[in-house]
Amino acid sequence: MLQENGLMNAFTVDLEDWFQGLTSTNPLVDQWPAFESRVVQATQRLLALLNEQQVKATFFVLGYVADAHPDLVEMIYSQGHEIGVHGYYHRFVTRLTADEFAQELDQTIEVIYKITGQSPIGHRAPYFSLNSSTPWAFDILESRGFLYDSSVFPIRSTLYGFPEAPRFPYKVGGHQLFEFPATTMSIAGIKWPIAGGFYNRALPYAMIRHGIRQTNKQGEPAIIYVHPWELDTEQVYSQVTIRERITHYHGRRSLQKKLRQLLSEFQFGTLQELMLQMAASVEYQPDELTVIST
Ligand SMILES: [Zn+2]
Repeated sequence: MLQENGLMNAFTVDLEDWFQGLTSTNPLVDQWPAFESRVVQATQRLLALLNEQQVKATFFVLGYVADAHPDLVEMIYSQGHEIGVHGYYHRFVTRLTADEFAQELDQTIEVIYKITGQSPIGHRAPYFSLNSSTPWAFDILESRGFLYDSSVFPIRSTLYGFPEAPRFPYKVGGHQLFEFPATTMSIAGIKWPIAGGFYNRALPYAMIRHGIRQTNKQGEPAIIYVHPWELDTEQVYSQVTIRERITHYHGRRSLQKKLRQLLSEFQFGTLQELMLQMAASVEYQPDELTVIST
């Protein structure tokens, strides 16, 4: 358990363009250049908000975006934010082979290293797609020098989820890696996502605040995530599916205000800082979870 006073939460950003995150346009890699890229202006909006609130965040960068917009990644890094990896083409890791996963990782590490001169130590899988079917992913991450991962959503959902995983940060069994699951709130023994993406947009702020307070009261940090496209209120795509209209477009207008409240009310930092804080705390004894192939 970490001290409630001075406990740091982590603010994280999945850096991708709107058409890379949508499941309908994601596989159309050949057509990506035809879509209007809006990642630069959307990210600048987010950076301005972080700057205004004096918060440093972890940006999990898609390799494709880093190759297309190296200046953007350099700007983020020069403002003191941490740069991590979010795959290269934003594919479900559960649909990749171990070799394909390793190749995307290496491509992204290389482009990030070229821009920042640093090897990233943090990873987030696209669509939070690590679960009990991808135990090899942790071996590969560790072999590339990663110290932590934040790709587990400890819920069951139609698109993603690892329901057996713990709610709070834990050590990956048999590895040195820390895992930082996306924050959930426990109500009547059921885990409810509260802390990112669609959930941040759909839930009233009071509920998000309550969830983070409940988490911090237990001596645990909250892990929040957001995508730049969620702040892009002018972006429209006429062929969006009904599901995507809800998961990707609902609540964009209210998000900036909610994030401002969140960032001013709680203490946030990068996942790297949080990991160091946890490692330095003698009281903090994270659980361990060994992933067995299913
Ligand atoms: Zn993503």
